[in-house]
Amino acid sequence: MGKKFVIITTVAGMLVSVLSGADLTSQSVFASQERVMQKQIVTQRKFPWPYQSMLAIESDADHTDLRKFNIIHEFLNTKSETMLGKGLGLDISDSFFLYNGSNEPEEIDYNGATVRNEMTMFKGTSNVPSVYAPILLYYIRHGWIDTFHSAGDFSRVDSNTTLFSRQLEVNAMNFLKKENEVSINVFTDHGNQSNVANFGSYIPFDHYMQGDNPHTRYYITDLLEHEGVRFVWSDHYDSQYIYNTMLYPITLRDGSEMWGFYRFTGTRKVVYEPRGGMIADWNTMWNPGYLWEQLTQTRLDELVKAHGYTVIATHLEGNANQFPLNTQTIEALVHLAHMQDHGLILVARTSRLLNYNLVQQGVRDHVVYDKKNGITNIDITNVVNPVDGNFIPTWQQLRGITFYVKDPDYAMITIRGVPVPAWDVTRSPQTIGLRWYSPDTTNWAVNVGTPLYFQLKSEMNAQLK
Ligand SMILES: [Zn+2]
Repeated sequence: MGKKFVIITTVAGMLVSVLSGADLTSQSVFASQERVMQKQIVTQRKFPWPYQSMLAIESDADHTDLRKFNIIHEFLNTKSETMLGKGLGLDISDSFFLYNGSNEPEEIDYNGATVRNEMTMFKGTSNVPSVYAPILLYYIRHGWIDTFHSAGDFSRVDSNTTLFSRQLEVNAMNFLKKENEVSINVFTDHGNQSNVANFGSYIPFDHYMQGDNPHTRYYITDLLEHEGVRFVWSDHYDSQYIYNTMLYPITLRDGSEMWGFYRFTGTRKVVYEPRGGMIADWNTMWNPGYLWEQLTQTRLDELVKAHGYTVIATHLEGNANQFPLNTQTIEALVHLAHMQDHGLILVARTSRLLNYNLVQQGVRDHVVYDKKNGITNIDITNVVNPVDGNFIPTWQQLRGITFYVKDPDYAMITIRGVPVPAWDVTRSPQTIGLRWYSPDTTNWAVNVGTPLYFQLKSEMNAQLK
């Protein structure tokens, strides 16, 4: 590293000193003119400073209509006054269905909407974009949606039948490509046995899942991998709340590999049968009516104490009430936002949490010390990834990666010798790291028929020509 860099870090160091008060003044650059800073011990911090843990709320799209979706995300993601209270400004995303191939009769909203009115990308199982397509594309682009929920809603009353075939997934992926849509990394399985494109679970009950079987007409995982899907939730109920890592490798039936991830769905309870047998049953919590139970003070405190990850499974838009979240759940979410404000839990959309988790557990570095200027350089060499192959990360992929050092003013981060842009390096009194994403509390909500809606629709149609 040349002289130029030293000057830049020195100025940055002085700024940090000014900003963080007396503590750092004693370690200022003036002291260094007399003695050169020693090589520093570098250890990785699990989460971006100051957070102690990380949490995602991963919502399934079942029974979602635009009304409930907008109410809920205005409350969760913005800081506006909303129907559910003052917005929380949290980074919570959602999932969506490509198709509606369901004939289930349920009402999904208080105004009488049924499963036929679910918000899907395409009209039924046709290749015609639905009235909601311009809005869904917009939400994907702005981070309110980051997950495929199965290949669509294909749940049939008779679960031995299905309207799904691979061609639908081909059409959908071509559509997303034409729209230059950002790649979607997360896929969650859903529903009854009509949803034949599900994949990733190999227990007898899940024999219906054929999405990774290249010998069937339901094979889609090659298309998903091409789209950028790297993480799958394979429909395993799970009562474990806290994980050291959310990821485990899955070998698919086409021979490729993908990361599976865990979700907290509820608690397991044992039910005693009248005739003496014992069966496992589930106290399922993945409806917004019970979201507060997944976010109790005790659970969140344990998460912080364990310095763990958690991914909460829910269906944010899963009930049909006029106010789609109840008071207890709203209070629990407000409390969660306070825990983030207090630096205890970083709330991140699922795709960000999983990508961070992957890089955090796989990042490798090499510490180089320059005794001329006393700078300890943390040089990132690569990310070990047993599923997709090791790779040299960009600084964007390293967002949030943080190291403990004694004096961050005398530390720097490079990737294979190339310095990370100065604005993306963040220092605290004892850490240096790559800046996490800036909060985005923009209200992205769109309604059908508004001027913005027509603009988005004509942009969408222009891409299809
Ligand atoms: Zn679902």
